[in-house]
Amino acid sequence: MSQETSRNIGPIVLLGPPGAGKGTQSKRIMEHYLIPQVSTGDILRYNVAQGTDLGLAAKAVMARGELVSDDLVCNMVLERLRQPDCKRGYILDGFPRTAAQAGWLDALLDSEFFDNTRPTRAWPIVIRLDVDYNKLLLRITGRRSCPACGRIYNVHFQLPRTDEICDFDGSKLVSRNDDRLEVIQPRLAAYQEQTRPVADYYERTGRLICVNGDQPMDEVTKQIYHIIEDRRA
Ligand code: AMP
Repeated sequence: MSQETSRNIGPIVLLGPPGAGKGTQSKRIMEHYLIPQVSTGDILRYNVAQGTDLGLAAKAVMARGELVSDDLVCNMVLERLRQPDCKRGYILDGFPRTAAQAGWLDALLDSEFFDNTRPTRAWPIVIRLDVDYNKLLLRITGRRSCPACGRIYNVHFQLPRTDEICDFDGSKLVSRNDDRLEVIQPRLAAYQEQTRPVADYYERTGRLICVNGDQPMDEVTKQIYHIIEDRRA
């Protein structure tokens, strides 16, 4: 068994505003450490596309760029974290997004998931990606993703080899419904009002690590790996 499939990585929380690079970096961490990315946005979008009860409840809220209720999201996360592939660890992308969700996650990790006598599994590694506001707008409006493999591109910074086509599987790239200019503003406002307190919560408990997300993507990845190695040493 390779080192990466036998080592416990534990929970990793990636914080940052929409467009900060959480999705891109999560995919890299996932491939490097062989642990799943748990993106609440992706799970919600899947549910909307499938027309499930959860999707129906979330659809209009997401289209307005507002946050789905804590109850719905926490239940959804609980169900996902109980899957066997999360046993060695996972990357939370887009969760927790409110102070209530952060408190809920701590209580969960304390009670159910991780044995706190084993320090490598006890607490999430919390990393926030910081990006300049104007760059965020460019990143979000230029974002395109592959509906088949989920890889993310950008028409301003990270073009696919062939216009609007995924380099890996040839699918036609799509824009997210909530990446339109009129929805971006409320999403960034929701981040300022509801998600900033999450970072404050982790900062107060001495767990917040900030990474400059304005750096080249590979440099951001390198720093994240360094933090993970350092914390899980
Ligand atoms: P994202 O892909 O992370 O930007 O999320 C897209 C949308 O899904 C958000 O604008 C929210 O409407 C919803 N959403 C994602 N994660 C959460 C969460 N943790 N709490 C509440 N709503 C969420």
